[in-house]
Amino acid sequence: MSFASLGLSEALVRAIESAGYTQPTPVQQRAIPAVLQGRDLMVAAQTGTGKTAGFALPILERLFPAGHPDREQRHGPKQPRVLVLTPTRELAAQVHDSFKIYARDLKFVSACIFGGVGMNPQVQALAKGVDVLVACPGRLLDLAGQGSVDLSHVEILVLDEADRMLDMGFIHDVKKVLARLPAQRQNLLFSATFSKDITDLAGKLLHNPERIEV
Ligand code: AMP
Repeated sequence: MSFASLGLSEALVRAIESAGYTQPTPVQQRAIPAVLQGRDLMVAAQTGTGKTAGFALPILERLFPAGHPDREQRHGPKQPRVLVLTPTRELAAQVHDSFKIYARDLKFVSACIFGGVGMNPQVQALAKGVDVLVACPGRLLDLAGQGSVDLSHVEILVLDEADRMLDMGFIHDVKKVLARLPAQRQNLLFSATFSKDITDLAGKLLHNPERIEV
């Protein structure tokens, strides 16, 4: 099976091949077509399975479909259309780096938001406009609360490592972020395991999700 046969277009396939990926991993084989169809997803996958590309690639395809004017040229600042929430700054940075590698041939703008560092560079990055925002919930709430970012245009939400997010006590922050998003959106939940807490969260968050366990 090839990446192109899963529905990814040339600019993405080229970037993936340069990264040395020859064929999609099992989680990618199932997640990529489902995300492209606009489905909600509930995925049980550990780090190392290729889960990041499993959501980042089809998200980029949806943001920049072949023939879309923004594919080659940007038109002014934008509020984020995609929000990826992660429990730690290390994971946020990794996910952000992955998006940048895959979007190498697209006019794509992203920002990575986490606490423990100065706010100003993050405020400036947001002011330029971003397509994809990768963020830890606490700092994101601070920035949204002071008006540095508007989350009302988010079309796709990813909760990455949702089990760690709950274990680290971020559920209240996550709920406050969710309250700032439009009700109509695609939701992708990734977790190492499907515990009862995760299943409860998924029940509230996801609409008719495709369940993927690898
Ligand atoms: P993740 O599970 O998303 O943390 O990814 C684990 C590692 O696998 C990362 O270093 C990716 O760059 C790499 N990777 C993801 N998909 C593929 C693929 N289809 N072929 C080879 N390596 C991959």
